[in-house]
Amino acid sequence: MKTEATIKGLVLKVASRCNLNCEYCYMYNLGDETYKAQPKFMSQSIVNNLLNKVGTYLTQSGSKTFTFIFHGGEPLLVGYDFYRNFVRKAKELLPAYTIVDYILQTNGVLLTDEWCRVLGSLDVRIGISLDGLTEVANKYRIDHQGKSSLMATLKGFSNTHQSKYLKYLPGILSVINLESNPAQLYQGYKELKVKHLNFLFPDGTYDNLPKGYKFDEINYADWLIELFDLWFFDKDPQKPQIGIFNHITNLVLGGHVKYDSFGEGDNIFLIIETNGDIEPQDSLKACGDSFTKTNLNITTHTLEDSFNQPLIKFCIDSQQTLCQQCQNCSVVEVCRGGYITHRYSRDRGFDNPSIHCKDFEKLITYISERISDVLTV
Ligand code: SF4
Ligand code: SF4
Repeated sequence: MKTEATIKGLVLKVASRCNLNCEYCYMYNLGDETYKAQPKFMSQSIVNNLLNKVGTYLTQSGSKTFTFIFHGGEPLLVGYDFYRNFVRKAKELLPAYTIVDYILQTNGVLLTDEWCRVLGSLDVRIGISLDGLTEVANKYRIDHQGKSSLMATLKGFSNTHQSKYLKYLPGILSVINLESNPAQLYQGYKELKVKHLNFLFPDGTYDNLPKGYKFDEINYADWLIELFDLWFFDKDPQKPQIGIFNHITNLVLGGHVKYDSFGEGDNIFLIIETNGDIEPQDSLKACGDSFTKTNLNITTHTLEDSFNQPLIKFCIDSQQTLCQQCQNCSVVEVCRGGYITHRYSRDRGFDNPSIHCKDFEKLITYISERISDVLTV
C-alpha cells in the first residue's frame, strides 16, 4: 500500500563521533555500537548522492519545502568547508523553487565567532543542546575525560548572541534533569534572552530504562507542571516559546500538530548515516545494537524506497498502531503514545504505552484543565 506520508526532511549524521560523551546519549551509551563502523565524517560523494535523490524526490512529489538537519555526533567536527560545499551543491541540484531550511544541532562547545559567521552566511539556524545553567543540571553532559561541558557550551552560546552574522538566535534543547530546579532554570534562560526552548524526556525502553527511572513515580510530570505554571502565567511578552507546551496546548485546543512525540506525525524525517545508510528515528538505537539498520543506502536506493522498509514504515504509521491501553486512553488524541522508542520492549515490540505514560497522562490532563480554567473565566 502506498503511504501518504511526506518526507519533510533529512537528519544528516555528518559526523559519527562527538567531542562529548553524554551519559544518556543513544548514539554511544545505550547499547548501539554501529557508530564504530561508520566513517568519521560524511563524504562529498555521499552529499552529492543524497542531494540528487532529494532533487528527484522534490520534483516527483511536488513538495516545495525541504529541511536538512545537520546532526551527529557533533556536526561542527566536519569543518567549515563541508557546509559551504553542501549549500552550494544544494543550490545546484535542488529545484530552484524549493524553500530549503537548514538547521544544525550542536553541543555548542566548538561554536566560535567564525562558526557563527560561516553558518550565518549560509542561513543555517543553530540549535544548542544544554540541560540547564548549572553543573547539576548538566551532570550527564560530560567530555571523554568525564569533565563538565557546561562552561564551554555557555561560551559557545554567548558567541552566538554577540555575533553580528546570525539572523536567528539559537534555540535550546534540554533533556529533563529532575535534579535541576524548574524555577531557577526558567529564570536563567529568560535572563539569557533565550527565545526558543524545548524539553525532551530521557530516552530509554522497557528493557533499558533511563538512569534512576522509577515506574511508580510521576516525577517528570511534576517537574514539567512546575515549569508550565511559571511559563503559562508569565505575562512577560518576551518570554520564551517552549516547544513541548506549545504542542500540547495546540493539540488540546484542537489544532493539528505534526511532531514525533505528540499529535499526528505524518510528516517524516529520515536519518542519513555518515556512510549514506538510510535509517528511521535515530533514538531507536536505544532498542539494541544495530536495531536501526535497514539495508538501504542513499547511493543505491531512492528516498521513497524507505516507505517499504518494515521498520521505517512502522515508524511512519506508529501513531496509528497504538497498543490497547493507548487506544482506550482519555488523552490519546494529544499523546498518541508518545515517542516510538519509549514504547519498545523485547517481549512485545512496540505494543506498549510509553515508558513515560503516567507522566504524559498527568501533564496533558493538567494542561487541559488550566486551559479550560482560562477559557471559562
Ligand atoms: S553532545 Fe549529543 S551526540 Fe555528543 S555525546 Fe552528547 S548527546 Fe551524544
Ligand atoms: S498517556 Fe499513556 S496510555 Fe495514554 S496515549 Fe499516552 S502513552 Fe498511551
